Amino acid sequence: MGSNKLARSRYAFKTSGNEGNSELPEVSSNAELLTTSTIQTHIDDGSMGYVHSYEIGSTMDGPGIRFVLFLTGCKLRCQYCHNPDTWDIRNGKPYAFDKMMKKINSYTEVLKISKGGLTISGGEPGFQHAFVKKIFKAAKKLGLHTCLDTSGFLGANFSDEDLMDIDLHLLDIKSGDPEVYKLVTKQPIQPTLELAERLSRLNRPVWVRFVLVPGLTDSWENVEKVADICANIQSLERVEILRFHQLGKSKWEQLGINYTLAETETPTLELVERVRSQFKARNLTVY
Ligand code: SF4
Repeated sequence: MGSNKLARSRYAFKTSGNEGNSELPEVSSNAELLTTSTIQTHIDDGSMGYVHSYEIGSTMDGPGIRFVLFLTGCKLRCQYCHNPDTWDIRNGKPYAFDKMMKKINSYTEVLKISKGGLTISGGEPGFQHAFVKKIFKAAKKLGLHTCLDTSGFLGANFSDEDLMDIDLHLLDIKSGDPEVYKLVTKQPIQPTLELAERLSRLNRPVWVRFVLVPGLTDSWENVEKVADICANIQSLERVEILRFHQLGKSKWEQLGINYTLAETETPTLELVERVRSQFKARNLTVY
């Protein structure tokens, strides 16, 4: 999912790492040629996944070296999204489950040696939940650490049993205030809160990611609410504060979508420190 995850080199990784799209997909080279009902069948049975890109070697998306799979499809419309080209599932290349697992398997040993593993991101990976579940189940059989990078908006697509196949959640909490959340994403906060509560109850490890956007998510009150949500996740291991920046701007322009944050600056170090202090005041580990 969730894009605009890291105000670090992840942006560059994702926009440049497009190796997956250079491979021949198993069914079609263009999802636009598939009918809506065919795509829905794939969404439901997970036999085929729609892949924006993948990268090998990320150290930003979970512990160790990661194979990161970026899927298409997202129901949020975050104002700061760096990859609006992932919103429509049809923008992905169809990959058969077996073919993707073969690809992942070819990196298994190096991933294990680095104590890394497989991360599935997006878009919002919950959009293609059946494919994600199949991939994670197979990855666990290979002995790989698994990580889901998600907004939590489609958390209801995963049963408690499914969540046990996910070793780490990178949970994007885009706001603590419901109105700000809606302003940022055009969707309600409740599904994310419900997933956070479940992960806490099930004691599943969580790293929360919070994108700090001046004038949008940075108010003292909003950050207090995010920090309160984090403090209530018993299985929380860390909070990552991601500084907004403009690396995704050109994609909005290319897609002809109105980009509301064109004039927004990257947060100052002073602002970042203030926000960090709000999380630290709750004895949370903050990066
Ligand atoms: S719109 Fe979707 S893909 Fe973009 S940042 Fe938000 S959750 Fe992530």
